[in-house]
Amino acid sequence: MVRVARLPVGLPRETDFIVSSEAVPEPTDGEFLARTVHLSLDPYLRSRLAGRHLGPPVAPGDVMPGRSLVQIAQSRHTGFGEGEYLVMETGWSEWTVSSGRDSRRFNPAIGPLSTALGVLGMPGLTAWAGVAELARPRPGDTFLVSAAAGPVGATAGQLARIAGCRVIGIAGSEEKCRHLTETFGFDVALNYKAPDFTNSLRSACPEGVDTYFDNVGGGLLEAVLSVLSPGGTVVLCGLISQYNAEGPPSGLNLGLAIARRARLLSLVVHDHEDKYDAYLRRASEWVRSGRLRYLEDRADGLKAAPSAFARLMRGDNVGKALVVVGAERG
Ligand code: NDP
Repeated sequence: MVRVARLPVGLPRETDFIVSSEAVPEPTDGEFLARTVHLSLDPYLRSRLAGRHLGPPVAPGDVMPGRSLVQIAQSRHTGFGEGEYLVMETGWSEWTVSSGRDSRRFNPAIGPLSTALGVLGMPGLTAWAGVAELARPRPGDTFLVSAAAGPVGATAGQLARIAGCRVIGIAGSEEKCRHLTETFGFDVALNYKAPDFTNSLRSACPEGVDTYFDNVGGGLLEAVLSVLSPGGTVVLCGLISQYNAEGPPSGLNLGLAIARRARLLSLVVHDHEDKYDAYLRRASEWVRSGRLRYLEDRADGLKAAPSAFARLMRGDNVGKALVVVGAERG
């Protein structure tokens, strides 16, 4: 298992965590023992460490929080059978004893197991909620998304394409930009770290941006507000440019939003849990047919979780960040 050694300052580092060996716990009646197959690494974990996210604060010595795709190894619970796959809170550990509260079954027939943490899991539902429930873009609209090569952004952009939009993605490297057009079929990819980014953004959307799906906040949001179409929609989904910061962010000029008469829509994925089954029905079919694609950034073994999490928070992950902990069994 992996414990927090000290709360990170700025970008998380491997030395902020301690890896230790772990005894296999015993379930009692009404419980089951589950083995982690894939551990999910997500940006919200950085906010948890900073005490700025839902859930109790994390202190040095605590097992690092996190959700996983697990397989039940032994069951003393009448409602859960051995071999079943679930997504649940496990922390960064290999073994978990649980009563099954707050777990969600994953049917391996609908997609590869790891997709339960990405395109067919919480990040996919976040994209669906932002596109299909909040923004509802129309065919022919220009749809812009940031952190576009990650699981939320890549899925949101592809859902907007399926809805008939012209899709522009913003990402932080040439490699990620290549994936946006070649793997995900976006119309245009822009590297926000390139020196001519502001000009490229203007030329990529000469008629303005109808919907901006914002995963980043800060200066990038401000740059996009200046090219938003009048009456354009902004979905406020994430603020990753601020998660490693110590203090509150320096001010954002929301006057730009007012000038554009923007409708700002704020997204919390948990408000949309009731749409998960509807999303899964459509998305799993699209994943199977290749219409909805995904990338994964895999690390091997729980020991690699701290460095893989640091990679994610540096922006070096290409695709859904996860750790392969146990073998996938049928
Ligand atoms: P990603 O795999 O996309 O990882 C985060 C990416 O963000 C990095 O790879 C990096 O890519 C980019 N990034 C990091 N720092 C910066 C920065 N300073 N400026 C611009 N981009 C940066 O993560 P997810 O797809 O899982 O999550 C994307 C966003 O969605 C996050 O903000 C997350 O918090 C949010 N979210 C919100 C939910 C909600 O309910 N509202 C639910 C789930 C996720 P790059 O190289 O492109 O910079």
